[in-house]
Amino acid sequence: MADTVPTIRIPERDIPVYAEADVVVAGGGPAGVGAALAAARNGASVLLIEQRGYLGGMATVSQVPAFCPYTDHIKPVIRGIGLEILNDMKSRMENAFQDEWRERLDWVPIDAEILKRLLDEKMADAGVKVLYHTFVGHVLQQDGAIEAAVIHNKTGTQAVKANIYIDATSDADLTYLAGGRFAIGGDEGELQPGTMCFVLNNLDRNKFLSSSEIHGRDLKHAINKAKSEGRLRVARDWAGISWLNDHTAGFNFGHIFGIDGSNADDLTRGAIEGRALVEHITGWLRETIPGFENAFLTLTGEQIGIRETRRIVGDYIITADDFLKCRSFPDDIARNAYFIDIHMAKPTSGMTMVHLPPGESHGIPYRALLPVGIKNVIVAGRAISTDRATQGSTRVMPNCFAMGEAAGTAAAILAERSSRETRSIDVAALQRRLVRQGAWLGDAINEGYRDL
Ligand SMILES: Cc1cc2nc3c(=O)[nH]c(=O)nc-3n(C[C@H](O)[C@H](O)[C@H](O)COP(=O)(O)OP(=O)(O)OC[C@H]3O[C@@H](n4cnc5c(N)ncnc54)[C@H](O)[C@@H]3O)c2cc1C
Repeated sequence: MADTVPTIRIPERDIPVYAEADVVVAGGGPAGVGAALAAARNGASVLLIEQRGYLGGMATVSQVPAFCPYTDHIKPVIRGIGLEILNDMKSRMENAFQDEWRERLDWVPIDAEILKRLLDEKMADAGVKVLYHTFVGHVLQQDGAIEAAVIHNKTGTQAVKANIYIDATSDADLTYLAGGRFAIGGDEGELQPGTMCFVLNNLDRNKFLSSSEIHGRDLKHAINKAKSEGRLRVARDWAGISWLNDHTAGFNFGHIFGIDGSNADDLTRGAIEGRALVEHITGWLRETIPGFENAFLTLTGEQIGIRETRRIVGDYIITADDFLKCRSFPDDIARNAYFIDIHMAKPTSGMTMVHLPPGESHGIPYRALLPVGIKNVIVAGRAISTDRATQGSTRVMPNCFAMGEAAGTAAAILAERSSRETRSIDVAALQRRLVRQGAWLGDAINEGYRDL
């Protein structure tokens, strides 16, 4: 098929260098945000490039309505920049919201507009140069290192140069463009489905919660009944509802299957089918669910939410066995306690969920952030080097903040001695810096650096 696709040759030409920085971060989701802030706070000059007009990634681009747990059910596992952002977001929300959520760190609803403003301000405070509406579409390489990244935006085609590049695109775009190795999906290329998340207003939360028809918070009964009567076309009898106030909630409800988020045709189909499904679901909610009679559809995601695309092949691949045995590694830079949460690839298949016991977590080694064969790229976020099962767990936003913070801190340490060799880092120095910044890398590591 590939050799039947017609091609054209782009003539060689000179393009302007837009900027040079110690660190270029591609992608402004939780991983990119953590990376840019950490690198800048550690003294590096940082350029953060994001294709949308705001930061936050899935939380703002796709309206994913809640942060997954920061804790292992006993203590916070994700601390540092991730926890700072969670707490700062909460502190800007309505008083009633703060009263309800002040002490809670798990499944906190996201106010996407507050998050966007907060992240703009944090970048300005840290001195990060942010470039919005810009896509990283090409890289130039020499001797196994990226020499420049090519960016596209309204100004035209330009280049950016850095010592270290942080790939926080969640699809491992930089690694892919640099010819790095990656895996995608399961054995037959199957991928978790996408979801078009949405926000409804004009709801009556008290009426909803007190309704006997829906058994308190749980919509399962109503969904199953409607499915069996052919009134609701969703694959799963679950809806994630995150209340921002008594009248407004974000919904993670319904799946669109067979979408590869690294393919533009699939993303287009996901947008169109996703919006149609949201219209259908909203109509059903209005007709069926007490308190939702006057629901007003305020917003759908700018892009369908994508759970799974490329995973890099890194110096270490974190496996399900590592997850299950709660393994620690000498070069841990974060820990993960979230469960394996793989949504079904087909409407007829089931969910895969594997929980760790309370208080347990596994390590995320620095090596899992380093794409094989590339010297000056650190990958953070959804695309790090794991097997498929573990990606179903490490992928969530709190983890991405922590991985980003580690990547950014590592990049700044490397920049201090103008090194482009990500593998040359003194891991102990990186861990010490992370612990000082408030990260938790497991008691063994944290205790070792307690008094330093
Ligand atoms: C439907 C759904 C529900 C989910 N539910 C939850 C949940 O409840 N809680 C939770 O914590 N997690 C949840 N997740 C997982 C989580 O949202 C993502 O895995 C996480 O956001 C990944 O973070 P990231 O920083 O790696 O990438 P993303 O959040 O995807 O951010 C990547 C950013 O990079 C930008 N970008 C990409 N490519 C380029 C490029 N080439 N040039 C420039 N910019 C680029 C994108 O615009 C985006 O802003 C959910 C995901 C989905 C899809």
